[in-house]
Amino acid sequence: MTEKFPMPKMPAMPEVPEGIWGFRDAVDKAGVEGGAETAVKREVGEANKAGEASVTAVEVGEANKAGEASVTAVEVGETEIAATLLGGLRIGLGYDVHALVEGRKLILGGVNIPHAKGLDGHSDADVLAHAVADALLGASRAGDIGKLFPDTDPTYAGADSLVLLGHVAALVREEGFEIMDVDCVIAAQNPKLSPYRDAMRANLSKVLALSIDSVGIKATTTEHLGFVGREEGISAQAVCLLCRCSC
Ligand code: MG
Repeated sequence: MTEKFPMPKMPAMPEVPEGIWGFRDAVDKAGVEGGAETAVKREVGEANKAGEASVTAVEVGEANKAGEASVTAVEVGETEIAATLLGGLRIGLGYDVHALVEGRKLILGGVNIPHAKGLDGHSDADVLAHAVADALLGASRAGDIGKLFPDTDPTYAGADSLVLLGHVAALVREEGFEIMDVDCVIAAQNPKLSPYRDAMRANLSKVLALSIDSVGIKATTTEHLGFVGREEGISAQAVCLLCRCSC
């Protein structure tokens, strides 16, 4: 295996002075195999700031031949800013499923989509909005949508999930986070969702106060496999990026 798929040549890692967060004295050169004159300089300006942010800030001085050396090099002007930025980033993942039943509207991303069946649930069962809400709540460590809006509470019976999502976005911002980006995928065998994608993006963009360019929505079938493929339900997944920083 190793002969057939050899590992790329990597620069030898420099020795790090004692104290993992104190390598202020940095590293002048990374030894390079293969003759490439790659000199990746790692320098942490205020070393302990990186420690506070649990992040290593890497400054690349000259000869950024990271590509050749199969090394990811990040050039930052102010290491402190980099530490703050990276330390303030959070990702979140949300997943939700609702059953398809007769006699209900099919609401996805706030769009009422004509279909013989709709999603069952305590609220309007907007599985996409719920997945996005859980992604945001996960990233901000603020619990989950079931905790905030229990399906045993009559207050939320028939609720517009976009309104609930708006509350979640406000909560996340109250915690000091800015919402940077959201991407989603809906799994539905039927109906075809692409005609409604832009309307769903517009709705999410509006309720999240995000540029529409920062909201991605994709749709897929499951090739007739599983509960989605049997048209028993629809699922949605969402990821989001939050930043609690002065960027
Ligand atoms: Mg749900």
